[in-house]
Amino acid sequence: MQHNLVKQAAERPDHIAVKFNESTLTFAELYEQASAVKDQLLEMELPGRIAVQPANQLTSVIIMHAIVLAHIEMVLINTHLTESEVKRQLDSIGVDIIITDNNYTSLSCIMPETLFKGTAEPSAATTYQPEDIMSIMFTSGTTGVQKAVPHTFRNHVASAERCKVSFPFDSETKWLLALPLYHISGLSVLVRSVMDGFTVVLFDKFDAAAINQALAEDDITHISLVPQTLEWLLEAGLERHKLEGLLIGGAKLNDRTLQESLKRNLPVYTSFGMTETASQFITASPDDMLNHPNSVGPVTEDIKVAAPLNGAGEILVRGDNVMNGYLYPEGANATAFSGDYFMTGDVGRIKNGYLYVLDRRKDLIISGGENIYPSEIEQLLLSIPDISACSVVGMPDAKWGEVPALVYESDSDLDTKITATLQEIAKYKRPVLYKRIKQLHRTSNGKISRHLVKEWLLDEIQ
Ligand code: ATP
Ligand code: MG
Repeated sequence: MQHNLVKQAAERPDHIAVKFNESTLTFAELYEQASAVKDQLLEMELPGRIAVQPANQLTSVIIMHAIVLAHIEMVLINTHLTESEVKRQLDSIGVDIIITDNNYTSLSCIMPETLFKGTAEPSAATTYQPEDIMSIMFTSGTTGVQKAVPHTFRNHVASAERCKVSFPFDSETKWLLALPLYHISGLSVLVRSVMDGFTVVLFDKFDAAAINQALAEDDITHISLVPQTLEWLLEAGLERHKLEGLLIGGAKLNDRTLQESLKRNLPVYTSFGMTETASQFITASPDDMLNHPNSVGPVTEDIKVAAPLNGAGEILVRGDNVMNGYLYPEGANATAFSGDYFMTGDVGRIKNGYLYVLDRRKDLIISGGENIYPSEIEQLLLSIPDISACSVVGMPDAKWGEVPALVYESDSDLDTKITATLQEIAKYKRPVLYKRIKQLHRTSNGKISRHLVKEWLLDEIQ
């Protein structure tokens, strides 16, 4: 099949594909430059799978398209990792060549600038098969081991199509992207851009003031955010301007942030998905959220809840955007699928045709036989304005098996206020101890990692 970038270069050659600071690339320019880099890569006679560590910059976008055009499987590596972390990830999937600005001594490194010297006539366009692997990336590691997820072209195309149904965009869209290109939230925007021919306005880092300014001056229509970055933008004075949609994913959006967004008339869409589903699977529109507060959207026949107990059970999904199986760790696939459904590891409930995500199965606290969902307690405590973030984790307990414990971020000691607030929920759900911390443990994309918080707390209370 023909690559979408080739199609856009032919159909909309002068439309801007990417904007970064004051630089822009039209679809024709992007295709031309990516083709030249592709030819450089082909001359190097590389293996069928190489890695790239893409900083959010124009050159990375060109290189990523070039790898895809060269028909090489593209392994995306987080730019914040140390050399030994990079090495470990690449070893796990048998890769030893990486395009990176870093000078790693334990790997074969290709400096990005060396790929931009080609001047010859570009070679003919390449094609792809839907079942070919386009990219490989690692999950966020929020629960521990980062798993290697391969995405085929079919997965990416299906994901973009699924996205468009509930979060509309078109060729006139201007999508601001400040999330990392190595993460599915970033890569999926590039895929949608070449499928529909819209402009990506790329930011190298999350600078809330600069982003708010771009929204005001640059006619941005769409933006991808995680809950944390939405909070930063709100604090920095976020306004609607020309925004048609703010796509929020990656973690639960807390009610406080949602209410503040609605107050400012922001078209917030909450979504649920994961690396394994090549971006979001289900999305709640602003209307959905008014009529079905806290849901992540209407369920389709591709979503079900397994063996619901009191209405809640593991969320299972299927469809062309779901990966075929992990490449690493070995054995992970044995428990990842149930028939043709992928087991998300998240617990949810379906009510009136809408899906509610309760928590990760791994984070459930079972205390004296009762299920405790940490999110429920965290959401309640976030109603205390001085708590900027918090995490509830299970601690081993001789009598109950496990009991909930609380770690919270705040400038002041709020123990008395917390105890008073907790009276609103059943006694068995109330954390038995509270610890204040300056900064909760987060993954590099800003998600609070209960698994790391728990390790820290176990250490603290010893
Ligand atoms: P790892 O799998 O390595 O532990 P991770 O699951 O955080 O990390 P991602 O694929 O980036 O890696 O994130 C997907 C997960 O994020 C989902 O499985 C879910 O737990 C959480 N998530 C995403 N969207 C939402 C949402 N709207 N509400 C609650 N949780 C969400
Ligand atoms: Mg996961």
